Amino acid sequence: MIIEMQMNAPETTTAAILRAASARKLTANVMRNERAAQVIGIGGSIQLDQLDVPWIARVEAVHKPFMLASRELREASTVMVGDVPVGNGQPVIMAGPCVVEDRESLIAGARAAQRAGATIQRGGAFKPRTSPYSFQGLGEEGLRHLAAARDATGMPVVTEVMEPEQVELVAGYADMLQIGSRNMANFPLLKRVGKSGKPVLLKRGFAATIEEFLMSAEYILAHGNPSVVLCERGIRGFDSMFRFNLDLNAVPGLKEVSHLPVIVDPSHGTGVRSLVPRMAMAGMAAGADGLIIEVHPNPESAMCDASQTITPDTLADIHRGMMAVHAALQPIFAPDLAPVMVAAD
Ligand code: PEP
Ligand code: MN
Repeated sequence: MIIEMQMNAPETTTAAILRAASARKLTANVMRNERAAQVIGIGGSIQLDQLDVPWIARVEAVHKPFMLASRELREASTVMVGDVPVGNGQPVIMAGPCVVEDRESLIAGARAAQRAGATIQRGGAFKPRTSPYSFQGLGEEGLRHLAAARDATGMPVVTEVMEPEQVELVAGYADMLQIGSRNMANFPLLKRVGKSGKPVLLKRGFAATIEEFLMSAEYILAHGNPSVVLCERGIRGFDSMFRFNLDLNAVPGLKEVSHLPVIVDPSHGTGVRSLVPRMAMAGMAAGADGLIIEVHPNPESAMCDASQTITPDTLADIHRGMMAVHAALQPIFAPDLAPVMVAAD
């Protein structure tokens, strides 16, 4: 049930509704939207006619199972990652290596990625690897290197957290917490990042339906965190030519039913370096708010996911293409937004 309060509704009215929900053992969350400072999402129904609450503007008694993530709750969210907005109509690039290898190469790569147009630094310190014998990441040392790269470039950092017990440690260094594909349905982890106070990049499980994906986002929102960015990163297909199949239906599909920003990962979505630029453009044409891309100063020697990792020069081409695609399509699909600035070379 969604209850939208009038703009000037007193907090006492909202408190009465929350008490009624709590008496019925229902979870309730207060968020805001374009019209109201207090929008209450309740995981069930309460009888409003038995309460004396005159300040209600709108009631949505029947809602989607992903109520807080839905467009019925609000139109569109902008998520701040450090000082970088995601979802405000200006596309962003998150870039960096699959895994943090050492301080010097991370900083050199971060500077090169920033010159190429990236505004958020990625890189794994704790890595979910298919083989227990593969490099698992540098752990806290990797987090320190990411913080050093942020000091060097000013770019905020997104990095993966795999266990609820690690959330506090990773949140101490990162500007955004990444939940990887393999952990999309790790509910204890989702609850914990929901309470972390940091924005979350939620990657789609590679065998998850769109509704399951949105229900995982709902877990984070329902635990108090309104700052979630969704990432389409490819699903399992039958063709061994690709590591995964980038499901670009998901992008406009998600945006039609949810207010959360959506970015696309053409690196894991293809597994093939030569396909990354085209699929990055395709992701933008599908309506993504940005891209996350694996970049390394010397891709061939990357310790993880080398075959899908691109050079900073290729990233610069993608950035140019991204801005051009976005500028070409915005007047058609979002004519009310301010025009995108495309820098002349
Ligand atoms: C990654 O971004 O480094 C990663 C492991 O991605 P995914 O969880 O999508 O496989
Ligand atoms: Mn990777």
